[in-house]
Amino acid sequence: MLPYGRQSLSEEDIEAVVGVLRSDWLTTGPSVGAFEAEIGRLTGGHRAVTTTSGTAALHAAYAAAGLGRGDEVVTTPMTFVATASMASLVGAKVVFADVEEDTALLDPSAVESAVTDRTRVIAAVDYAGHPADYDALQVIADRVGALTLDDAAHSIGGSYRGRPVGDLADLTTFSFFPTKNLTTGEGGAVVAKDPSIAQRAHEFHFIGLVRDPERFHIRDEGPWHQEVHEIGVNYRLTDLASALGLSQLTKLERFKARRQHITARYNAAFADLDGVRIPVQRVDVDPVWHLYPLRIRDGRRREVFEKMRADGIGVQVNYMPVYWHPVYADAGYRRGMCPNAEAFYAEELSLPLFPDLTADQVDQVVESLTRALR
Ligand SMILES: *Cc1c(COP(=O)(O)O)cnc(C)c1O
Repeated sequence: MLPYGRQSLSEEDIEAVVGVLRSDWLTTGPSVGAFEAEIGRLTGGHRAVTTTSGTAALHAAYAAAGLGRGDEVVTTPMTFVATASMASLVGAKVVFADVEEDTALLDPSAVESAVTDRTRVIAAVDYAGHPADYDALQVIADRVGALTLDDAAHSIGGSYRGRPVGDLADLTTFSFFPTKNLTTGEGGAVVAKDPSIAQRAHEFHFIGLVRDPERFHIRDEGPWHQEVHEIGVNYRLTDLASALGLSQLTKLERFKARRQHITARYNAAFADLDGVRIPVQRVDVDPVWHLYPLRIRDGRRREVFEKMRADGIGVQVNYMPVYWHPVYADAGYRRGMCPNAEAFYAEELSLPLFPDLTADQVDQVVESLTRALR
């Protein structure tokens, strides 16, 4: 089965990891700091904190934002469940605002209607690798005293109005799962513009340990002393994973170009095909196409999915609206609340898209889809 996404690993990547295995530090060593510095450099010069997954990054970001009981997060239903569920985990109420009909990105006008004086975070997702409209979202956030968060699990390497992903929102989270734009096996990162929020994310992911003597509550305990002020977890990324990430980062531009090239081939093949709608791109955005979200009209998405799977093409659907998950439905979230997201979900089909996909495989996908629609 041709997968919808997969990692691209080279001999250099393997050598980088082997190098760490031969070194003194398997974790919390120099590769972690070097990877964090490179992510920071790529994303506007802000501090990055690496984590064990994108889900962990979201958890750390919400914790660092000070989110808790009584607070509200406004977010998109067109995402992987973790964007919402990590806000629920820290005790906040999740409010779903609808997406734009064409891009499936969080719609600022829907956010406008969803914010209250309890809104602490507005969390957008750069669905398929296309950044959301952060200028519009930031205006709303600033007015109500909330932070913006960019779940950039799909979009590392992209930009919006000339600014890189990581510099678009107050907080940005990444995932380095194998299907994403670059991988560390499992892994993720939080980037924060406010250094105090970045430090809080760092401490949260590091068991809450405070190591700065200036901030100690217990004085003159001794040179070994460290202390905990707020409860944290251990979400530390290893040096093995960080070395892989550093090596992968050097290839991000090439990965991006391959993803763009394949997307352009799909667009050309499907632009005039009846029964489908190709993804849209805003003029002020430079996306990293992580997914190729084709829309299958006339209620035929499931039929096309099944026919293509039978052809060995590992198509996928991204995503069922988050509030359809029983954990949210059981909590009273009702179907119908975000009609654009539901309409998008009903038609969406993600075609295989990853840097090592060959021209022949792209042709195979196009043929299979064309046959399925016949
Ligand atoms: C993959 C993904 C996550 C979670 O990342 P993991 O590394 O799998 O935990 C969160 N949000 C979005 C939009 C994702 O695609």
